[in-house]
Amino acid sequence: MPRIALFPGSFDPITLGHVNIVERAVPLFDEIILAVGENSEKHYLFPLAQRMQWMRETFAHHPSIRVVSYTGLTVDFARSQGAHFLLRGLRNPADFEFEKAIAQANREMEPSLETVFLLTSARWAFISSSIVRDVIKNGGDYTRFVPESVRVART
Ligand code: ADP
Repeated sequence: MPRIALFPGSFDPITLGHVNIVERAVPLFDEIILAVGENSEKHYLFPLAQRMQWMRETFAHHPSIRVVSYTGLTVDFARSQGAHFLLRGLRNPADFEFEKAIAQANREMEPSLETVFLLTSARWAFISSSIVRDVIKNGGDYTRFVPESVRVART
């Protein structure tokens, strides 16, 4: 059975923190599905198609990585994709508290789905998509926080 992991998130936009987690997960799984959640109550800075295009360009050289979008419960989508692992990144204690509750709720709903956490490398632990969005909105230099695909598109 292939080891398929789903990495759910907003990726608004993808940052070097996300890239770090995904690249370190590549050797652990046969396939990684980067799943961009679409929540009608959330306001995004970048349109879904743009976010997905940046992600596809970033990982174009990794044949085991796919980028898809989804709506609804993450556990339902994981099941529909045959994924038995959820991948999440942990930056700090606040992430841990938040992620713990989500992982435990997900496990109640789908016991066969295991959440796997990777600690972000210290180099990127301070980056969040929301900080990057703030820097972009205020005309600052965001380029050191994002992969090349985002950099090229925005400069
Ligand atoms: P969400 O809307 O689920 O918070 P994000 O795109 O912000 O979506 O984050 C998706 C995942 O990426 C989460 O597990 C989050 O902890 C992780 N993540 C975000 N930024 C970083 C970072 N700088 N380093 C490591 N992991 C990160």
